[in-house]
Amino acid sequence: MKGFDYYKVTTVSQAISLLTKQGDKAAILAGGSDMLAMMKDRVEGPKLRAPQHLLDIRQVKELSYIKEQKNGLKIGATTTISEIGASPLIAGRYPLLAQAAAQVAVPQIRNVGTLGGNLCQRPRCWYFRGKAFKDCFRKGGSNCYAPSGENQYHAIFGGENCYMVCPSDMAPALAALDARVEVATAKGSKLIPVEQFYIRPGKNILRETILGPAEMVVAVEIPALAQGSKGTYLKLKERQAFDFALVSVATMVAVKGDVVTDARIVFGGIAPFPLRATGAEAALKGKKITDGTTAACEAAVKGAEPLSNNGYKVKATKGLLEQALSSLA
Ligand SMILES: Cc1cc2nc3c(=O)[nH]c(=O)nc-3n(C[C@H](O)[C@H](O)[C@H](O)COP(=O)(O)OP(=O)(O)OC[C@H]3O[C@@H](n4cnc5c(N)ncnc54)[C@H](O)[C@@H]3O)c2cc1C
Repeated sequence: MKGFDYYKVTTVSQAISLLTKQGDKAAILAGGSDMLAMMKDRVEGPKLRAPQHLLDIRQVKELSYIKEQKNGLKIGATTTISEIGASPLIAGRYPLLAQAAAQVAVPQIRNVGTLGGNLCQRPRCWYFRGKAFKDCFRKGGSNCYAPSGENQYHAIFGGENCYMVCPSDMAPALAALDARVEVATAKGSKLIPVEQFYIRPGKNILRETILGPAEMVVAVEIPALAQGSKGTYLKLKERQAFDFALVSVATMVAVKGDVVTDARIVFGGIAPFPLRATGAEAALKGKKITDGTTAACEAAVKGAEPLSNNGYKVKATKGLLEQALSSLA
């Protein structure tokens, strides 16, 4: 690992002013479960350098909390995944989020991994992570190795010039809950819907989120759910002990009588960002869940473009949504 300067910051404004001063040579350190692995493994390329300044935000007291607010719930960025998974408030109000938290890695990682870090973790694509593949687009190179390489874990939607998949379990769950990410900047803070927090590779191949170099996540706000809402988070993985999602689906429906009045369906593991399945949502609205399921599952995979080894993800996507809808019905 290359040497770096370590700063223990105690306030958000201190972190923002250091980020502003050091530019892209600095990075936030939260639980470190991803950041330090990237640094140790020397994941670098023409436009990806290990940070020279690490700003540890774990001592920032104002960032660690789960609290009720007028129209929902707010979770601070350094709240750990374990704390989210163990919160009775979250289990009671947003079981889908508790289910997603329980699916993240293993207890040791959930104990150190934070919500902000989970949302901002870097891709798990083995070409991005692999030292030998310096020419990867996402590291500032001029190639994506996935289309002609080992692509069984890669994207079937939205690949454009990079086929990594969004590795986060929390992101699709929060997008299905219509949550917003609070981002601190030098000019104050802004709230961004989770869906818009992530960007397509075609927009900027070098990063996965809208965050600029002097910006950081400080919290996530989840709105109160409409009456009659229910949801579930399902994840298909290869190793059952722990693994990143081959496909995951966060499904929220609001039901009046037997009829779906609203739906939000977001997939993980199949696109470089949490993928909202608006066609599937439309296929459910105005129908009983059971009556809309087949059309919703077909709509969810419309336009999929599997690579040579990941055609199974099309079937798996349909199957997982069918299972989610069946459990909600
Ligand atoms: C073996 C293993 C298995 C895993 N399995 C899963 C899994 O199944 N599902 C899943 O979702 N994840 C999984 N992960 C990823 C894990 O959840 C993340 O590493 C963890 O959540 C990151 O949180 P952290 O606080 O440790 O972040 P760090 O490692 O400290 O940071 C990660 C990245 O986020 C940035 N960052 C951190 N906090 C902020 C902030 N507040 N604002 C802006 N940027 C920030 C950092 O600069 C860095 O780029 C796994 C990780 C490992 C090592």
